[in-house]
Amino acid sequence: MRVFFIGFGQAGGKIVDMFIEQDKRMQTQSFRGIAVNTARTDLMGLKNIELKDRLLIGQTVVKGHGVGTDNVTGARVTADEIDAIINAVDSRGTHDIDAFVIVAGLGGGTGSGGSPVLARHLKRIYREPVYAIGILPAPEEGRLYSYNAARSLSTLVNEADNTFIFDNSAWKNEGESVKDAYNRLNDEIVRRFGVLFRAGEVGKAGVGEMVVDSSEVINTLRGGGISTVGYAISEKISPRTKQNQGLLSGLVRKKEKTEEVLTGEDKSAKIIALVRRAMLGRLTLPCDYSTAERGLVLLAGPPDEMDRKGVEKSKSWVEENIAGVEVRGGDYPVQSDYIAAVVVLATIGNAPRITELLEIAKSTKEDVLKSKEKRSTMFDDGIEPLFE
Ligand code: GDP
Repeated sequence: MRVFFIGFGQAGGKIVDMFIEQDKRMQTQSFRGIAVNTARTDLMGLKNIELKDRLLIGQTVVKGHGVGTDNVTGARVTADEIDAIINAVDSRGTHDIDAFVIVAGLGGGTGSGGSPVLARHLKRIYREPVYAIGILPAPEEGRLYSYNAARSLSTLVNEADNTFIFDNSAWKNEGESVKDAYNRLNDEIVRRFGVLFRAGEVGKAGVGEMVVDSSEVINTLRGGGISTVGYAISEKISPRTKQNQGLLSGLVRKKEKTEEVLTGEDKSAKIIALVRRAMLGRLTLPCDYSTAERGLVLLAGPPDEMDRKGVEKSKSWVEENIAGVEVRGGDYPVQSDYIAAVVVLATIGNAPRITELLEIAKSTKEDVLKSKEKRSTMFDDGIEPLFE
């Protein structure tokens, strides 16, 4: 799949920078990306997105200093400068891409406010689907961040074709601050979504047993709403036994043959176990997976380890465990010592964390209104102001 990433705000820019780094390192040329921000220093800190692909917006309003957790300003500035953003996308080239992916932290100002606006305009202009990876703030960041995220997400789900959620609070360790965890969390994000968004690209390792192409990813995500991703990685695969020579060779070869038969079944079992681990382990948004409408199972690993039966059985297992009946899947070979399994659970019906976020947002809004009322009546005691 060829993906055009737009990193919006600080978190979005950093993560897209890492996707581009991964693409360079793996020499896959599946990804391209730009970064958009209202803060100049955030853009300067990026390493892999070319300078000409870093776009500073809102200069007349915030003078390159960022919008300071004010997502209404983030949305306004984006709407005002949408032509410049679309120009930056166009000049990077879109003719051969399969999808756009906007990445942003939803609790802040620029990415939180700007992403839904950008999603709307990308959808208006291009035929390709527009997805988002939205990062939820941890509650410890404060109620303003939760409020921003709830407002942004409620808008984004209606603008993007599908929104993947990554929940910072579910991924940080006990006692660790969110800030300290960022690098590790970003690594997790890029690893998972890297496997997903590279699906269908034919690399050096050849074609898969059951090829998945970008249309399968797109069809899985067609239902809209929010989605979550599970991931698991195998143990290091030991190198194949070298050809034995000499007197004992006949004996050893015979032994190897029986091992081959066993590995045939082992391969399926290994894949099924990996897929189970991906879905039952920690999801990008922990939630009730049985409410997912669609699923996608992806395996990436050395060609020798891929197994059609294993993929088929894993798909059936996912299908038995989710609400819907549409489960797609396949594999693609990569030169690696590991097998990675990715399970996309698309269009989730129930996620307690989202309900909680919306509740925090509602109570925050009520409190803000109450405090505004208090402020406005405090000086209403008949003292005349100096002038009106
Ligand atoms: P913006 O620049 O105004 O869009 O805001 P930021 O991107 O700086 O922050 C928005 C939210 O994103 C924060 O409240 C955090 O929850 C989250 N965030 C910021 N930086 C990172 C990061 O590097 N990784 C992750 N996972 N989350 C981040």
